[in-house]
Amino acid sequence: MTSFKTLDDIGDVRGKRVLVRVDLNVPMKDDVVTDDTRLRATVPTVAELADKGAIVLLLSHFGRPKGERRADMSLARLTDAYAHVLGRPVLFVADWDKAEVVELAPGEAAVLENTRFDPGEEKNDPAFARRLASLGDLYVDDAFSAAHRAHASTEGIAHLLPAYAGRAMEAELKALEAALGNPERPVAAVVGGAKVSTKLDVLKHLVGKVDHLIIGGGMANTFLAARGVNVGKSLAEHDLAGTAEEILVAAERASCIVHLPYDVVVAKEFAPNPPSLRTCNVHEVAADEMILDLGPAAVEALADVLKTCRTLVWNGPLGAFETPPFDAATVALARTAAALTQEGSLVSVAGGGDTVAALNQAGVADDFTFVSTAGGAFLEWMEGKKLPGVEALMQ
Ligand code: ADP
Ligand code: MG
Repeated sequence: MTSFKTLDDIGDVRGKRVLVRVDLNVPMKDDVVTDDTRLRATVPTVAELADKGAIVLLLSHFGRPKGERRADMSLARLTDAYAHVLGRPVLFVADWDKAEVVELAPGEAAVLENTRFDPGEEKNDPAFARRLASLGDLYVDDAFSAAHRAHASTEGIAHLLPAYAGRAMEAELKALEAALGNPERPVAAVVGGAKVSTKLDVLKHLVGKVDHLIIGGGMANTFLAARGVNVGKSLAEHDLAGTAEEILVAAERASCIVHLPYDVVVAKEFAPNPPSLRTCNVHEVAADEMILDLGPAAVEALADVLKTCRTLVWNGPLGAFETPPFDAATVALARTAAALTQEGSLVSVAGGGDTVAALNQAGVADDFTFVSTAGGAFLEWMEGKKLPGVEALMQ
């Protein structure tokens, strides 16, 4: 990986105006922040800069206002909650240009209004990027989750000011590099979730990168069906049989071992603890049954695979984990990965909205080496795409 500058390289920031791109796009209900993970993620960078005497100007999007000013998407709504998380006062500046005249002392922070209120943000309009850049002396990007978008506040501005990765961005980039950039081998990837169609590019990229590709979730059904297994009423994309075959052929050519389930947990109705619940070999699924999770023999075999690996990257749950007991395989394999990580034999990196929820459900998110909450950006990285916000930081 070409290198990027971090806060270690930023020098004396006392009295300087530092524009920090963060992701304050948190879920809110009735003016209450319902999940403040993203707010907390910004604290190390903002606190470090403020403690060093910088004037910290925070840039973020919030919702999809499509270039219009909308009160319901104003960052004013969460400035107080943010100040609370940060543990210091935070000013709100409604008009970007006013940030120039606002009197801020070294060590103080302000949130500038939603960048997407200006149509130039999402168009990466050079004029809007220049307008933002004119407000500061330095630029710090701490929003990996927005780095897959080439917007004025994530990409354009990075070419106009000395640009640095914030602490959260730095941690994310280092973890991703350790997982797929330059990993210790053997490398395993777990790919699960509902559908093959949403993760085709992920699968295609991974077969050329990893030694073991573990396929679970609904997408395993598509692969099993492509192999001629009768998957009954299971969620499966039968029209993608050809694509699934191509991926298996590509894997074989790349000496990537693909692991499909050996046994599965099935039911006739999709409900919590249904009476028809049973475990069977993949070849014994009845026409009126659905595969909803991997079986215990499969999980044991996969745990043995992980024990031989040094690196793991995980996206997508192995079963319909929201409904008990179809979280069993995901929870069991996640606990194995967590234990191996804690023993020091595995570097484990996971990401994806439902994946993070499943790891939290298993109680092991903190025991993984790194869990990315970046969603779309994490998936694009798993697809092997270059992220514009990251590229702009590379020298
Ligand atoms: P992520 O958000 O981590 O990228 P996905 O959105 O791709 O993950 O997939 C998660 C969804 O896949 C969950 O809602 C889960 O219930 C569903 N799923 C997993 N396995 C199955 C299955 N066998 N049948 C139906 N749905 C499944
Ligand atoms: Mg999802």
